[in-house]
Amino acid sequence: MNVELVNTGSELMLGRVLNTHQQWLCRRLADLGHVVTRQVAVADTGRDIQGAVREALGRADLVITTGGLGPTSDDLTRELIAELLGVKLVENRDVCAHIENFFAKRGRPRPARTSVETFVPEGALVFLNAAGTAPGLALNIAAGGWPGADGKTPRWLIMLPGPPRELRPMFDQFVVPLLKREFADEIFICRTLRTTGIGESRVQEFIESDLQPLVRRGLEIGYCARPGAVDVRLAAGGAGAEQIVGAGEAVVQRILGASIFGFDDDEIENVVVRLLTARNKTLALAESCTGGNLAHRVTNVPGASAVFLGGVVCYANAVKENFVAVSAETLRRHGAVSESVAREMARGARQKFGSDFALAITGIAGPGGGTPEKPVGTGFIALASAAGVEVKPFLNAWDRETFKQVTSTQALELLRSRLNSA
Ligand code: ATP
Repeated sequence: MNVELVNTGSELMLGRVLNTHQQWLCRRLADLGHVVTRQVAVADTGRDIQGAVREALGRADLVITTGGLGPTSDDLTRELIAELLGVKLVENRDVCAHIENFFAKRGRPRPARTSVETFVPEGALVFLNAAGTAPGLALNIAAGGWPGADGKTPRWLIMLPGPPRELRPMFDQFVVPLLKREFADEIFICRTLRTTGIGESRVQEFIESDLQPLVRRGLEIGYCARPGAVDVRLAAGGAGAEQIVGAGEAVVQRILGASIFGFDDDEIENVVVRLLTARNKTLALAESCTGGNLAHRVTNVPGASAVFLGGVVCYANAVKENFVAVSAETLRRHGAVSESVAREMARGARQKFGSDFALAITGIAGPGGGTPEKPVGTGFIALASAAGVEVKPFLNAWDRETFKQVTSTQALELLRSRLNSA
């Protein structure tokens, strides 16, 4: 099945607004087994919108447009699409009542311009907007007999409002059931295995040849490198898709095994919080060069308070001494970026916070501060637990932001692997 997305809005083309609909909708659709085949963003002009929609209808079974359904003069999508399809706009009583009610509930007079929102293309399904006034609209194109440019008959055209807080609940409330109903026979299975600790090329080298028999049966393999992680995406469509993807997953599990930290939407911090919670263990942190990035990621996880006690950003040597009990002698003898200091930071944090585990990070983020012995990117991660302290060196020569992300991922991975082997 071909799905195309047309994001309208001059603010997108001027770079004033980030097109989050593209990512959000592609992700949601993929989760439902429908992969977006093409996406385009266009300005709010009649020619651009009609041109993009006409082209998309010529190719796709499902076209989704976003934006331009509001009451202002630049909101043209509904009118332009009705004109393109040769469909009349007719007043819809449910939308009138919804808009009346929307303003009455807020004790505000209804602006006259909102009346344009009550006119919908004849025959359209109307999605009342729980978070606003402009309704979403869905047209069964096949039933309307719209001829696609290549003679193919597409099936549905769906129009959604621009504001994300309106579009997202509307998609979940109305579009998901419609897709499940109308495209039930279109099966596409997608599974993402998330790995860490191995580079993208190595991941491919390890698994590619063993997956070849499944590729011949229709398995698609994709790789996505992220800071500190590589995703392996396995997908297949049609009859047998589930079995092919399942077999692919088994192959990747067998080969990459322990490097796989999660699946699909899992983030490593979520996995670590989940493991700590399941084992009833607590965590504390002592971070230098990651500047709190690790604490930020851990506290992004809902429910982190059950396992995360706290952390110290001990950037200066004096703070390492005073807050996590690193000895002045160790700092003088080995330098702040050293295995010994990382060890003492982790041990000190575990003691101060009274946690089961403590992670500590010290390193040189750069771009300055490197030496021939300790180049930029050098650092140490320490994990303290009842079993003692283990320290891992790293060399993450990236820009500062990537450095923080990669390093904190490695720290989380160290803890994850310990928790898994415990
Ligand atoms: P409104 O009633 O607000 O006019 P609308 O359906 O006409 O709704 P637009 O005017 O196209 O929608 O967009 C409204 C706002 O929604 C934009 O200013 C922008 O902040 C946000 N928005 C629109 N499109 C996108 C997008 N693709 N990604 C993220 N935000 C978007």
